[in-house]
Amino acid sequence: MEPINIAKPLLGQEEKNAVWEVLASGKLAQGEKAAQFESAFARYCGTRHAVAAANGTLAIHLALLAHDIKPGDEIITTPFTFIGTVTPILFCRANPVFADIDTTTFNISPSDLKKAITPKTKALLPVHLFGLPADIDSIRESAQNIPIIEDACQSHGASFKGKRVGSLASCACFSFYPTKNMTTGEGGMITTDNDELSDKLRLLRDHGQKNRYEHVILGYNYRMTDIAAAIGIEQLKKLEPFNEARNKNASSFTAGLRSIDQLQTPATPPKYHHVFHQYTLRAKDRDLLRDHLRSDGINCGVYYPRLVSENPPVKPFATRPTPIAESTTHEVLSLPVHPGLSPDDVKRVLSSIKAFYSKHP
Ligand SMILES: *Cc1c(COP(=O)(O)O)cnc(C)c1O
Repeated sequence: MEPINIAKPLLGQEEKNAVWEVLASGKLAQGEKAAQFESAFARYCGTRHAVAAANGTLAIHLALLAHDIKPGDEIITTPFTFIGTVTPILFCRANPVFADIDTTTFNISPSDLKKAITPKTKALLPVHLFGLPADIDSIRESAQNIPIIEDACQSHGASFKGKRVGSLASCACFSFYPTKNMTTGEGGMITTDNDELSDKLRLLRDHGQKNRYEHVILGYNYRMTDIAAAIGIEQLKKLEPFNEARNKNASSFTAGLRSIDQLQTPATPPKYHHVFHQYTLRAKDRDLLRDHLRSDGINCGVYYPRLVSENPPVKPFATRPTPIAESTTHEVLSLPVHPGLSPDDVKRVLSSIKAFYSKHP
C-alpha cells in the first residue's frame, strides 16, 4: 500500500500556468505579482496592508525590526514551537523569554506570560500553533501596551471571535513553506493595519531603499520573487476549500477516536475556528504508537520532540521553567490531516490506531 504522508502540497494546472506566465514575461523578481498577492492576502485577512517576504522566519525578523527591537530587549514567546519563531529574536540580539503553554490548546499560557513581563519586555510573540489561534484577548489584557506580534505561520484562515488571524494584533507573520496550509515554495507575509509600520516593513525588506539607490536606513534583501507570488495568488484562492478538507478530516478523526481513553483529541474552544495545520493528539505510549503507525505506512509526526529552548543556540535564554511544555513533548503525535487525504486514508489511520490500543490497553 502507498504510504500516507504527513504533508502534501496540492499544486495544479492553475499554479503551473501562473508560473509559466511569469517566466515568459522575464520579470522574475518582486514586482506586479507580489503586489497583487499582497492586496489579495490583506483583503483575505481583513487588514489594510500585507507585505510579502522571502519566508516566514524573515517575516518575523522584519516585524521585530519594524518594532525597533534592540539588543538586550526581551521578547516573550513559547518554547513549544518551530525554531523559526525564536531565531529572529536572536538575529536582533534581543533575549527570548519563554512562557509555559496551556495544557489543552498547546498555545502560550496568558497567565504565565503575564508573570514573565519585565520593564525590558518590548514585544510579545504568541504562536497560533497547529492552526488554533492563541488566546489573544487574555494576552492583550496582560500586555497593557506592549505590542503583540502574531506568529501565524501555521494558521492561514484561522479566526478568533470572527476575526481572522493576521488582524488580531499589531502585525502578524505568515509562512508559505510547502508543508503549510498554503504554499509558494518558500515565502512569507506580514499583515498589519498600521500605515507607518507597513512603510517601515517595505523599507527594511528592500535595502532600506526609499527611491532608487537612495537608502535611508539599514535594510535587507528579504523580497519575495514574482514566481513565488504567482503561486501564492492561486493557492490563496484554494485556501478555504483546503481548510474545509482539513476540518472534515479532523472531525472524522475526533469522532473515530472518541472511545479511546488513552488519547486526548485536539480541542477547539468556543469562538475559535481551527484550521488544523496539524491534528495533534496527546497519546499514551506515544513512541510505540508512532512506530506502529509508521510500520503501517502512516507517516505521522512528532511536533515537537524537544523544546526550542533545549537547542544550543537558544538554551542560554531558557531561564524560566516551562514544565507543561516540557512534558507535552513526550506525549504529542500529529496525524496526517492534509487536504490530499482520501476517505480510505482516514479509515486506514483510524483502524491502525484502534488495532494498536487493542494490543496496548
Ligand atoms: C514554518 C514556521 C516558521 C518559519 O517559516 P519559514 O517560512 O519556514 O521560514 C515560523 N514559525 C512557525 C510556528 C512555523 O511553523
